[in-house]
Amino acid sequence: MEFSSRVTSITPSSTLAITAKAKQLKAEGHDVIGLGAGEPDFNTPQYIIEASYQSMLDGHTKYTPAAGLPALKGAIAQKFKADQGIEYAADEIIVTSGAKHSLSLLFQTILQEGEEVIIPSPYWVSYPEQVKVAGGVPVFIEGKEEQNFKVTKEQIEQVITDKTKAFIINSPSNPTGVMYSKEELKIIGDVCLEHDILIVSDEIYEKLIYGRESHVSIAEISDALKEQTVIVNGVSKSHSMTGWRIGYTAGNKEIINKMSNVASHTTSNPAVMSQYGAIAAYQEDDGSVGNMRDAFEERLNKVYDQLNGIPGFSCVKPQGAFYLFPNVKEAVEKSPFNSTDEWVTALLEEEKVAVVPGSGFGSPDNIRLSYATSLDQFEEALGRIRRFVDKYN
Ligand code: PLP
Repeated sequence: MEFSSRVTSITPSSTLAITAKAKQLKAEGHDVIGLGAGEPDFNTPQYIIEASYQSMLDGHTKYTPAAGLPALKGAIAQKFKADQGIEYAADEIIVTSGAKHSLSLLFQTILQEGEEVIIPSPYWVSYPEQVKVAGGVPVFIEGKEEQNFKVTKEQIEQVITDKTKAFIINSPSNPTGVMYSKEELKIIGDVCLEHDILIVSDEIYEKLIYGRESHVSIAEISDALKEQTVIVNGVSKSHSMTGWRIGYTAGNKEIINKMSNVASHTTSNPAVMSQYGAIAAYQEDDGSVGNMRDAFEERLNKVYDQLNGIPGFSCVKPQGAFYLFPNVKEAVEKSPFNSTDEWVTALLEEEKVAVVPGSGFGSPDNIRLSYATSLDQFEEALGRIRRFVDKYN
């Protein structure tokens, strides 16, 4: 059978091979430490689970509007007002089955065949593939390590063509954890305004920020930037609700309306019990979101220096999310392995530590380690990585 060229152009996730291998080694009885996780290691807070359970007992087990329950949109609108100081009406918000679904609906909605989306690298693995599935063309610009992985106005200007439709910003970023300041966002925003490029702001790690920094959304900087931006967010990372599949997009009501039309013919509404859980997540607060953030920050502060001290490793200090993205080029060059991918596979085979190679994030000299795992496990993993590196030093 001949398959759709949009689908055959997609590269399989680089994390899959390593995850499959880690699973196989675990099944064989090996003590594998997985640092590949893209989700918090805490359970969903109890009050959210209870609210969802109660909603089902109350009979809320049927279809909802495709774009989500009005009560949940209201809770999301309140969250935007409280956290970002921006107002969205109900028809400017769509609730989706996760932030990933939001992004995929968005690209399907805005892209004509061949239109371009500017993606700063290192990037979250799904952006380019989602753009391609929607018929678009990903255009990469490199956030250089010496610039803390951030892209500049000049880099954006260099790749703008008459086909440029959107620019993706993910701050704090997966995989680097770095965050753009308000001043940097304004400069980038002005370029997008000048060339009428839609800004897609993925703010899924907004609640996981460390030190004295605080989150700034590019949409809160000015009315013009709010108009030019669609925000994608969700409860997966903030409330440890990855399995519930609730995300959302806020922005121009025509875009939201078209996304809702696509959703109404594809997925329909996100699971109703998850939507009730998300209402509770935003309307109540038992301190869990802050406690989880504090736990991540403590881990980051304990492990960052140890990781950076491994010979041949250098790591930009993250300001948010729960990943470390060290450059391991020197360590790989000293080893007998020809690429970071091979080095990562050998680390798993020899020391039973699973990390994600940077190639899938557009950064082949780096690896991604997630500290959404216990401190004991992480420190044990660092010891094993060090032993592996020392072997070839
Ligand atoms: N955006 C980024 C940058 C992510 O890292 C992830 C999840 O890993 C998502 C979006 C998707 O989140 P969700 O679980 O809400 O689909």
